[in-house]
Amino acid sequence: MPSVDTTIQLIRPGGKVTSCSPALKDAPWNFDKSPAPSYGPGSSMYDVAPADTPKQGEIPLEYRLASNEELDARIMAAKATLGDRLVILGHFYQRDEVVKYADFVGDSFQLANAAKAKPEAEAIVFCGVHFMAETADMLSGPNQSVILPNLAAGCSMADMADIDSVTQAWEQLEEIYGTEPDASGRVPIIPVTYMNSSAALKGFCGEHGGIVCTSSNAATVLEWAFERGQRVLFFPDQHLGRNTAKAMGVPLERMPMWNPRKPLGGNDEQQIQDAQVILWHGFCSVHKRFTVAQIDKARAEYPGVRVIVHPECPMPVVDAADEAGSTDYIQKAIDAAPAGSTFAIGTEINMVQRLQAEHPEHTIFCLDSVICPCSTMYRIHPGYLAWVLEAFVAGEVVNQITVDDAVAVPARVALERMLAAKP
Ligand code: SF4
Repeated sequence: MPSVDTTIQLIRPGGKVTSCSPALKDAPWNFDKSPAPSYGPGSSMYDVAPADTPKQGEIPLEYRLASNEELDARIMAAKATLGDRLVILGHFYQRDEVVKYADFVGDSFQLANAAKAKPEAEAIVFCGVHFMAETADMLSGPNQSVILPNLAAGCSMADMADIDSVTQAWEQLEEIYGTEPDASGRVPIIPVTYMNSSAALKGFCGEHGGIVCTSSNAATVLEWAFERGQRVLFFPDQHLGRNTAKAMGVPLERMPMWNPRKPLGGNDEQQIQDAQVILWHGFCSVHKRFTVAQIDKARAEYPGVRVIVHPECPMPVVDAADEAGSTDYIQKAIDAAPAGSTFAIGTEINMVQRLQAEHPEHTIFCLDSVICPCSTMYRIHPGYLAWVLEAFVAGEVVNQITVDDAVAVPARVALERMLAAKP
């Protein structure tokens, strides 16, 4: 297996590698004190956090000073006290020190459904990021509280599309396309949002004849949209949109990018008229780091290696890989492989390291030898988990994530369209 430096590191602009502060791992509360919005060290360090990004207040000193052993004992005691009143959900990308307490581990949509499957749980503690907790709140029952242990655990990709910018883009597109269906009844344009987006954007899709997709069902969802619309506005991840539409035969020249800071998204009217899929200028800074050169290196060092990358990776990387698929796809591919297989994986490092541990019979490594985890997932530490759990034991719900009905009702419509558009 290639040697991997397990310190948390950053890639600075220009590609120079430098170690980043171990405080992200051991004391993420130091970043909660920052008055300016920021995602903290890690892959999203250079993404611009919106001014209104949720901030986490300082958690009590006892949780910041507690040893790992003490936090472990307190978390386990709270779990035992709460029993079936509690369910803890851990995303595939979450650190092991937190995931070990999870009742369910999975991708964002699997976890939102896991929450629904435990109606007796009064507290759903979501060890993931903000949009996931919002989705869990929309799919959970009225007597369930969804708790995000650190409110600063957002998602830099989800933050790249906000409701105001999307509404403005929509108005410009309607001016060009009008609102009348064509002879076959297809409306001019359908909005499609990736699950990694705010509840407000899911609600926008519900209100405008649109739909939600995951990285597992994006092609099915685009087919659904093309049956009902002449074009698609896809947000926030340009790469998932481009990779999926390209595999379905949509030519690249019919997939202009929409930059919300420019008039007509940086396009001329003809480009917009000719478009079949308009791609929002968003990306995941974790998956943007993977390169074709890394794949070439893996193939040179490991002849026969199976390269699987996530479809949030840039198109040349997806094209150069053997396969592209969601976290669930990657997990199942490795689970099903014959012993002795070799995999180079292009997704978040915590998941890759967990797959390594689960499958000692295989050789599994991350395409990127520099460890640079998702900054926002790393904002959650056992200290926050102990704090929210002990508060709940004491009868207090802290860090609750709620979505107003004005948003949740249309957002559920968009989610239900996705479920009906199976597989
Ligand atoms: S891995 Fe990327 S898309 Fe997922 S939460 Fe982190 S920044 Fe967001």
